Amino acid sequence: MNKRILVSGASIAGLTLAYWLTRHGFQVTVVERAERLRAGGNGVDVRDQATDVVAEMGLLSQIRAAATDVHGMKFVDAADRAVARIDIRDPASLEIMRGDLVALLHGVTDVEYLFGDWITAIRQDDDGVTVDLASGGTRRFDLLVGADGLHSATRRLAFGPEADYLTFKDHYFAFADADSSLGEDRWVTMFNTPGKMAGLYRSGNHAQAKAYFIVRSKPITFDYRDVGEHKRLVRDAFGGDRSWRIPELLDAAFADPEFYFDALSQVRMPTWSTGRVALTGDAAWCASPASGAGAELALVGAYRLAEELAAAEGDHRIAFARYHAALRGLVAKKQRIGVNVRVMVPRTEGGRRVRDFAARLRSGRN
Ligand SMILES: Cc1cc2nc3c(=O)[nH]c(=O)nc-3n(C[C@H](O)[C@H](O)[C@H](O)COP(=O)(O)OP(=O)(O)OC[C@H]3O[C@@H](n4cnc5c(N)ncnc54)[C@H](O)[C@@H]3O)c2cc1C
Repeated sequence: MNKRILVSGASIAGLTLAYWLTRHGFQVTVVERAERLRAGGNGVDVRDQATDVVAEMGLLSQIRAAATDVHGMKFVDAADRAVARIDIRDPASLEIMRGDLVALLHGVTDVEYLFGDWITAIRQDDDGVTVDLASGGTRRFDLLVGADGLHSATRRLAFGPEADYLTFKDHYFAFADADSSLGEDRWVTMFNTPGKMAGLYRSGNHAQAKAYFIVRSKPITFDYRDVGEHKRLVRDAFGGDRSWRIPELLDAAFADPEFYFDALSQVRMPTWSTGRVALTGDAAWCASPASGAGAELALVGAYRLAEELAAAEGDHRIAFARYHAALRGLVAKKQRIGVNVRVMVPRTEGGRRVRDFAARLRSGRN
């Protein structure tokens, strides 16, 4: 029953799902809007149940070998002196660059890929799902799973407008490449002014550093695909600030074609399926980069969805309900991000001092 499955999105959730569905005997096609795998992004964490998932995929040793080995976060003043450090090393967690994880997951899949294409319409009936593709074709499958991220087209087409499901969490963020001579090896360096953070991410295994920026803001309207507009927004927010290394970081970030900008948003949905269409990963429950749990949830969620489909012998009504029940609690827990945001972006100068003091106390205990 329901053997042919279309997955939209070839990132952490979509690739994991494709792998496990194939292993359970389903026939999988993956459609990815980008022309190739998207390699951008900072480190993402693989921990707890997600570690078991990648281990069963035979990827644990490769993930260990590519792990970033980041030691922690340090907060600096305008003269680049560390005022506090938080050691975040955790033996139960592996951090790997997002692009490295995506490449490893892709390497173990054996499915049909449609790169540079995307779904423009979905019609479902009692026997299957028909999709129109941007390239002009029409294809029919038994089930469709949207793993196409925060701005999921599958969600919009099958469940309704994105505004019904996205909750804005008062900040915008940007990630981009930066000069590797900046920042301390194996530390995430953060510089704050009230409501803003400019940071540098230096992994132990990569020559390149990553810049990132977070700004507290009221909601603004922008096109999430217009990188030129994203750069203008970041320039407006930080461009006048000459303190710390902000000008150098902005220059490097604006030169990066993979410059990545978005609202810090979460996806909250009463259900992750409608008929023969389901969602997984950020498309279903994005907890935001501030959660540090995007990859973990994508790996665990996609694995579980494939397991439930296999256990129900393809009966999507049973499988989708069990998948929802199994993941709901973990997702709710990971969506509690308030503390993380307050640590990274204190709203006031007083808040920053309290944060630094608390970090010094904590490191004194370590
Ligand atoms: C380029 C990039 C950089 C990122 N950087 C970071 C980071 O530094 N730190 C962090 O915590 N998180 C980052 N994320 C988000 C992180 O990958 C997710 O939070 C998490 O891993 C869950 O992954 P996902 O597979 O559900 O979604 P995503 O990783 O967002 O992947 C969604 C995939 O769907 C594709 N897609 C989008 N629209 C369509 C469509 N209409 N049809 C077909 N395919 C489509 C996208 O190209 C992408 O490959 C990044 C995501 C991307 C895409």
